[in-house]
Amino acid sequence: MQFASLGSGSKGNGTLVQNNDTSVLVDLGFTLKETERRLKRLGKSPHDVNAILVTHEHADHVHGVAPFARKYRLPVYLTPGTYNPDKMGQLPDLRKVNCHRPFRVGSLGVEPVPVPHDAREPCQYIISSEGTRVGVLTDLGHITPFVRQQYANCHALLLECNHDTEMLENGPYPYQLKQRVGGNHGHLNNEQAADLLKSIELPKLKHLVISHVSEQNNQPQLAEQAVTRALGTWRGELHVARQEQGLDWISLSAPDPG
Ligand SMILES: [Zn+2]
Ligand SMILES: [Zn+2]
Repeated sequence: MQFASLGSGSKGNGTLVQNNDTSVLVDLGFTLKETERRLKRLGKSPHDVNAILVTHEHADHVHGVAPFARKYRLPVYLTPGTYNPDKMGQLPDLRKVNCHRPFRVGSLGVEPVPVPHDAREPCQYIISSEGTRVGVLTDLGHITPFVRQQYANCHALLLECNHDTEMLENGPYPYQLKQRVGGNHGHLNNEQAADLLKSIELPKLKHLVISHVSEQNNQPQLAEQAVTRALGTWRGELHVARQEQGLDWISLSAPDPG
């Protein structure tokens, strides 16, 4: 199983997750042209993608979904609340997600997880193949008990470290936007992300990817410091998914038996 990021942050997101025969995109916040360019950088053709899973309707996650799905005739999975035909237009193959029910896309398993975020019906996804689990978790204002439970056992985790609370407080955002970003239905700060790690089975976690880092209100080093403190003697690999460069492919071997 492998995953890579086309880019991560408030200007556009897209994560590729695949095994030997199925490849899915989680969100697509880039224009058609930009998506094709970023896929090529990862050695992928748009024709290799089998489906798009959408987490919520914010532009940095859906901007490219409908054009890409129409051009390449792809199924799009999203919750009923996320789909707004007036904004997205017609999709060639719309698949409604019940965010309390796991489903399959080709040979990949998909577990949606509802999250608290200021969108209509947001969910994040854990994607699995033969017992290997990759969790994508961004765009949530706080960690719910259900999120904590569902993400406890992942082999790779792309985790939002959106902002540093002091940088947000002292930064350039207007008051209302600060309240939104830092609020219960906004985005995870570095300390909240670090706190989630306390309930994760760290021996199983091989890769942690710091994701959705704010360019205005955070620095990757601050996020790294916060999660490193929580990780203690963890022996996995820490990465950062960037807005421009994304993240190159990371391969996960099959999990140890038992
Ligand atoms: Zn976002
Ligand atoms: Zn969002």
